Amino acid sequence: MSAPSNAERMEKIVSLCKRRGFVFQSSEIYGGLNGCWDYGPLGVELKRNLKNYWWSVMVHGRDDVVGMDGSILMNRAVWKASGHEDTFSDPMVDCRTCKARLRTDQVIEKKDVRQCPNCGGKDLTEPRPFNLMFKTYVGATEDESSITYLRPETAQAIFVQFKNILEVSRKKLPFGIAQIGKAFRNEINPRNFTFRSREFEQMELEYFCRAEEGMKLLDYWLEERLKFYENIGISREKLHARKVPDEERAFYSKGTYDIEYDFPFGRQELEGVAYRTDYDLSQHQKASGKSLEYFDEETKQRFVPHVVEPSAGVDRTVLALICEAYSEDEAPDEKGKMETRVVLRFRPRMAPIKCGIFPLLKNNAQLVAKAKAIVDLLRPHMNVFYDESGAIGRRYRRQDEIGTPFGVTVDFETLGERDAALRDTVTLRDRDSMRQERVKISDLAQLLSGRVA
Ligand code: ATP
Repeated sequence: MSAPSNAERMEKIVSLCKRRGFVFQSSEIYGGLNGCWDYGPLGVELKRNLKNYWWSVMVHGRDDVVGMDGSILMNRAVWKASGHEDTFSDPMVDCRTCKARLRTDQVIEKKDVRQCPNCGGKDLTEPRPFNLMFKTYVGATEDESSITYLRPETAQAIFVQFKNILEVSRKKLPFGIAQIGKAFRNEINPRNFTFRSREFEQMELEYFCRAEEGMKLLDYWLEERLKFYENIGISREKLHARKVPDEERAFYSKGTYDIEYDFPFGRQELEGVAYRTDYDLSQHQKASGKSLEYFDEETKQRFVPHVVEPSAGVDRTVLALICEAYSEDEAPDEKGKMETRVVLRFRPRMAPIKCGIFPLLKNNAQLVAKAKAIVDLLRPHMNVFYDESGAIGRRYRRQDEIGTPFGVTVDFETLGERDAALRDTVTLRDRDSMRQERVKISDLAQLLSGRVA
C-alpha cells in the first residue's frame, strides 16, 4: 500500500472529520461562513478532553497558578492601551485586476515588479493596514462612544484583572493566571481547514515574575509546553521550537519561541511562548491610572512584574491531534480478506469515546442485557458507546475510525454457556494491536480507568 501524499492525507482527514462528526462548516445549509467551524458530537469531546487536560496540568496540577474566565467584550480602553487598536493589523494589498485582497507577504515580486499570485496582474494598490479586530457596538446607539471589539486574544482580561486576582489569591511571585476562551480575528485569508479561523479558542497562561527571572522562565515554559504536547500524543519529531529572530519579535519581547508542528500542509505554529517583559501591565497602569504593582514583603519594594506567556490554540491543537492520529493499515474483513483500515490512534486520554460496548448478536436478549449492564457499569468512569448493529468486525472498524481505544464484546462465553469458568468475562479488544484479552466484568472499570487516565 503506497502512502498517501500530504495533500491526499489532508483531504481524507477533512472528509473523515465531516463524515464522522468531528467538524462541520459553520452555517453549512446557507453556504457556510468562511473561517468559522462547528464541532460535532465527537469534535466537542476531543476539544473538551484537550482543554480539561490543559487545565489539569496548568492549573490544578500546580500551586502557583490560578484560573479565571474573562468576558469577551471589554472596555475599548483596554484595546487602546494594549496597542491592538493601533497596531493589530496586517498590511494588505488589493489587486485591481481580479479584486483579490492579499496580505503583503503573499504578493510575488519578480525583478522588482509586484505581481498578484491569483491572476498574475501587476496593477496592485500600495499596502494598507487592515485591522484584524471585529468591531462592534455596545448598547442602543451605534456611534463612536459605543464602539468596542470582540477580543482578539484572551490575555488582556488577565492583565486588567491582575490586581484583583493578586489580592484574592494572595500568591507570591512567581505565579500565573490561566484562562481558556474564545478569541476572534478577522483573518484576511482563513485557510487550511480549522488552522486559521476567524473564531477560535485559546489556552493562555500569564506567568508573572521578577525581571531577573524572565529569560530562565521562558526556557522553563518552553520545556513544559513541549512535554505537554508529548503527553497528549504528539510525537517529539514533529514538534519544533523555533526561536523567533529579533526582527520578527514584538518590540517589547526579550525572547519568543514558536512551537511548531509538521501538519500535512507544512510546518506551522501551534503555540507562542513569549517573554513579554513588563510591557502589558505597564501599559494598563499608565492608561488606567491604577497601580498594577506588586509589593515584595521581603525587600519592601514595589514594582510592575514581568510576564512569560505560553499561548496555545485549542483548534490548532485539535487539528494537530487528528493529523497525528490519522493512519491507515490493513485488517481482515469478515471473510478474512485484507482491507484498508482507517484508524485514529489517539492517546486514550484524548479519545472522544474511550470504550465501545457490543453484544455479539442484537437479537439475543441475554447478550443485550449483559452489554447494557456493562454500559451502566462503565458510564460513571468514562465516555462509552453502545453499538449492536451490524457484524462485529464492522462495529470494530467504526470505532477504529473515530479513535476509540477499547472495545468490549459480550459473547456466549460471557453467559457461561460453553465454559462455566468464563461466565461474566468479556473480550477486551485493543484498537492499535487489535489483540483481544479475556477480562472479568468486575475488573473492567478499574482496568480501563487506569488505561485511559
Ligand atoms: P499566526 O502567526 O499563525 O497568525 P499568531 O502568532 O498571530 O499566529 P498569537 O497571537 O501568538 O498567534 O496567538 C497564540 C495562538 O493562538 C497561536 O499560536 C494559535 O495557536 C492561536 N491562533 C492565533 N490565531 C489563530 C487563528 N486565526 N485561528 C486559529 N488559531 C489561532
